[in-house]
Amino acid sequence: MNFKDDSNLKALVASAPIGICILNAETFVAEMLNEKFLEIAGKPREAILDKWYWEPFAEARAYFEQAMIGVVTSGEAFYADEVELMLVRHGKEEYIFVTFIYAPVCDENGKVSKLAVWVVENTTQVREREKIAAQKLMAEKERDRLYDFFNQAPAGICVLAGEEFVYELVNPIYQSLLKGRELMGRPMFDALPELKGTEIERVLNEVYQTGNVAEFKEMLIPIAEFEGGPLVDRYFTFTYVPRFDTIDTVDGIFVFAYEMTAILESKFKSEQASDNLEQIINMLPASVVVIRGYDLIVEMINNSNLDYWKKTKAEVIGKPFLEILPDLADQPFASQLRHVMATGEILDVKESPVLFTMADGSVRETFVDYTYQPLSDLEGNRTGVLVMSFEITDRVLSQKLQEKYAKELAEANLQLHAVNDELARSESRFKYLIQEAPVAIGVLQGRELIVESANVKILEVWGKTAAILGLPLYKALPELEGQAFLSILDEVYTSGVPFTANEIRALLEHDGELKEIFFNVVYQPVVDSSGSTADILVVAVDVSEQVRSRRQVEHAEQTLRLALEAANVGTWYIHSETRELIASDRLKELFGFYPEDEMTLPHAIEMITEEFRETVKQAIETAITKGGNYDVSYKVIGFRDKKVRWVRALGNLKLDLSGEFSAFTGVVMDITDQMEDELRKNDFIGMVSHELKTPLTSLSGHLQFLQRKANKGSTTAASAFEQPLKQVRQMTEMIAAFLNVSRLDSGKIHIDKTAFDISELIQEIQAEHLEYSASHSIVLNLCNHIVVNADRPKIAQVINNLVSNAVKYSPHGTQIELTCVVHNGMVKVGVSDQGIGIREQDLSRLFERYYRVENNNNNVSGFGIGLYLSAEIIERHLGKIWAESEYGNGSAFYFELPV
Ligand code: ADP
Repeated sequence: MNFKDDSNLKALVASAPIGICILNAETFVAEMLNEKFLEIAGKPREAILDKWYWEPFAEARAYFEQAMIGVVTSGEAFYADEVELMLVRHGKEEYIFVTFIYAPVCDENGKVSKLAVWVVENTTQVREREKIAAQKLMAEKERDRLYDFFNQAPAGICVLAGEEFVYELVNPIYQSLLKGRELMGRPMFDALPELKGTEIERVLNEVYQTGNVAEFKEMLIPIAEFEGGPLVDRYFTFTYVPRFDTIDTVDGIFVFAYEMTAILESKFKSEQASDNLEQIINMLPASVVVIRGYDLIVEMINNSNLDYWKKTKAEVIGKPFLEILPDLADQPFASQLRHVMATGEILDVKESPVLFTMADGSVRETFVDYTYQPLSDLEGNRTGVLVMSFEITDRVLSQKLQEKYAKELAEANLQLHAVNDELARSESRFKYLIQEAPVAIGVLQGRELIVESANVKILEVWGKTAAILGLPLYKALPELEGQAFLSILDEVYTSGVPFTANEIRALLEHDGELKEIFFNVVYQPVVDSSGSTADILVVAVDVSEQVRSRRQVEHAEQTLRLALEAANVGTWYIHSETRELIASDRLKELFGFYPEDEMTLPHAIEMITEEFRETVKQAIETAITKGGNYDVSYKVIGFRDKKVRWVRALGNLKLDLSGEFSAFTGVVMDITDQMEDELRKNDFIGMVSHELKTPLTSLSGHLQFLQRKANKGSTTAASAFEQPLKQVRQMTEMIAAFLNVSRLDSGKIHIDKTAFDISELIQEIQAEHLEYSASHSIVLNLCNHIVVNADRPKIAQVINNLVSNAVKYSPHGTQIELTCVVHNGMVKVGVSDQGIGIREQDLSRLFERYYRVENNNNNVSGFGIGLYLSAEIIERHLGKIWAESEYGNGSAFYFELPV
């Protein structure tokens, strides 16, 4: 910025933010100045204004006068660098830092008329800068010192930064502790993975979290020399010191570590050495004690000596001999010890008595052989004695006892004889026991397997007599040649390992014949006193019976299986508790599964067509929960082949051998062909019956018409129509029945329920029968007015059928009784006759389709469908039908319906 010498100059100077003083360019007298300038100058205005410039600033004149003159002559500004000036400010000498400029100020003619001094004081900034520089220097020095310490400290030091414990600094000693390991910049547990999960990791984390110092002394740290290398046991003493950041939270850990391995190892070694020494003296068969000095201090002692003295180690080590055993003071040992120490002589004493006074005051008399041997210390002075002694009390005492015993022995010998006799007797008892045992027992002696003993049972099993005793086995049982036994026994003899087998087969000669026998057998080697096999004990149980009967069962099962296979029948098994289904391959095939498919019970049921599914499910449930026979026929659609098959399943419930659950098992066979034949037949019958019905109806109509006409004439003519009419009626009924069967099969039979009085119906049927036939008398025994809800024409058909049968199967002139009673909410209708009756075995089968009792039907027409149809009708009413009869004494048929 250049000032101009004009009218504005004064105002400019006054308002400038820096110190400004305007001088006359010729005289250098200050003409104008502002407050800022006065502040920096530290002088009053009058000391500068209107004064020659170098008067107030005499101290600077030498440095800057020339520059000022230069500005006026050259017209160029002078820029001074930051300078330190000594200025007298407020009467005091002060060093200040300023930056100033001498700038020319020209008048309107361009002539330098004035000179402006601009000045800025930097003292504070400079001081600040200097302070910082000084601090930096200090810090650097401090750091260098620390670094020196860090590098030269006799300890291993490192800094682990952050919670990852990254090696931020590692001093040479620390690195030398872990020579082969790369540490810097790596997280500690990456660099030293073997420390992961150790106490070290736990404690580091603790220090990091709590900010507390932690210390370890002589800690064992197995560590590898190189990454992945084998672990080496080393000992360290170390300290963890937390490092805090500016906000006083831990941001790292200083580690100071010293290796102690060598020190500890030598310590261990010396401990080991004295340990070894102690072990050695403890191993000696003698009692050993080392005694030192005139006071006879016990320095070392072995266990045997402690036992002998009856003291503990703590009671004796470091204590004077006579303090330990004051009762020995009046015996010669103390003086002998001192004598050996003084003279260096070796002392050897045999069978010396040593008397101890016990706590209870009694005296323990012992005898020892002992040797005192002088010991020198490191400097060669004799200061100790090695005492080695052998207690021989027992020997001495036993010698004394021996004489006494010799006498007693003679007496004992006598007794021994008696005991031996007793033993012999008990042995023979034992032998008897074996002899009579129910299992076969024998002893084979030596490798030749000499039959040393054989009890009754084993002789029986072998089919031999006691004559074989003493023979080698191969001679006693020559038939064993070629069988495995001799080599097995030899193996047992040589290996000493017992042999056990179940149901092993042997061929043995009994009375000149080879017999197949099965055994459970144990060959037990018996060792002699030297530990090698002397005999073999043979224990065998004859299990031939079991094996044979099991084989029979197996054989029967096999046969059954073959039969089932041959019949192409599927078999199944259902666990009553779990409902687990086990199906044979054939069964799976019938249900359209592959043998390898899994077929559970729900799978199987799924395959049953809808019309049968519920019924079969019910039947299975009933069979499992209530037992009883299970016989159902139904249709299935194959799982994979989608083939439609008719099957018949038969089964029953058996208690499992365990008794805990039952097994519902049975067979399933393919009856598709039969069923299809049946259906075809029924279709055919249905069709034919239908075709026959029409002409028969008209025939019957004509006959009745003719009969009525004839009735008006002679009665004989009219009665001639009776027989043909009856036959036509029978035929109509029969055809109706066939039609019904075919309807039933095709599911076209329907029950149309209405409420009606069944007693009324029975009366109608009686009337009808009486009208057409007078061969039998029909009597009624009814309760009145019983209303049932049922299909009236079908129930009529049932009763009609029962009455016709009664007529058919009982002789002319006999009586037929129709009854009807109500009981427990059911109405029971009965038709009884005095006819031929029915055999027991036929009773249950009468209701099967096309079933006719043989023989007695020779002269009676019928097809065996009347009762079948009746049963179907009653079942569809949820009722029950059955027959009771005594052969030759008439039959009674009953059915029951809900009222
Ligand atoms: P059908 O009489 O046409 O042969 P059913 O089904 O009516 O056929 O009878 C089946 C069989 O039962 C007869 O063949 C007969 O042997 C026997 N039966 C039926 N009712 C009687 C009865 N009341 N007395 C003796 N046997 C009878």
